[in-house]
Amino acid sequence: MNLIVAIDGPAASGKGTIAKKLAEYFNLSYLDTGILYRAVALQMLTEGMNEKDIRAAKKVARQVSITTIDHTGIRAREVSDLSSKIATIPGVRQELLERQRRFAQNPDPSKDGVILDGRDIGTVVCPEADFKIFITADLEIRAKRRWKELLQSDPTVIYCEVLEEMRSRDERDTNRKDAPLVVASDSIVINSSNMSIDVSFEAAKNWILSRRF
Ligand code: C5P
Repeated sequence: MNLIVAIDGPAASGKGTIAKKLAEYFNLSYLDTGILYRAVALQMLTEGMNEKDIRAAKKVARQVSITTIDHTGIRAREVSDLSSKIATIPGVRQELLERQRRFAQNPDPSKDGVILDGRDIGTVVCPEADFKIFITADLEIRAKRRWKELLQSDPTVIYCEVLEEMRSRDERDTNRKDAPLVVASDSIVINSSNMSIDVSFEAAKNWILSRRF
């Protein structure tokens, strides 16, 4: 049995936490696809590459391997920013798409399937997914969540800056030509603005259970 669950949504919508909980509940292998874009951005920053160098970005993307990504520093704000810029480059997306599809099509035999979260899972990476869930929340609420998270390691982080960074990232992710962030036509939408992550998870879980068993 290879169940495929696609979770999409903007930054800090809660999709990662919900995907991890669904993975545990339904015994699925989990892939946070944003990590791949972040790995490209982090390596470019570490090696001082020009962020506008499309060929360099593609070359770095070609070398990314899901199993060997070092997560140190991968959530830094500058990595978030650059990852959404290099994510607009079709050649970078093409390289990373193959890895994501391979992951979805070769599940761990001890698992009952896969769950991937990102921006284009239900539309491009796994259009054949059995379940598609789009998780969203109002921009201000998402920015506040991210700000509180960042405050834990840096008490000087300014909310308005986090808000603006998130707004720019949303705009780039939504307006890019290749695989933009959109709700797949056969996806359900969960708006977590006024719900805890636990309640949003229950909604997603119950929807899958109601259709599957
Ligand atoms: O999900 P996360 O915020 O870690 O993703 C970082 C960036 O990677 C996003 O802002 C987006 O530009 C890009 N991304 C993407 N497609 C995906 C996952 C992430 O374009 N499937």
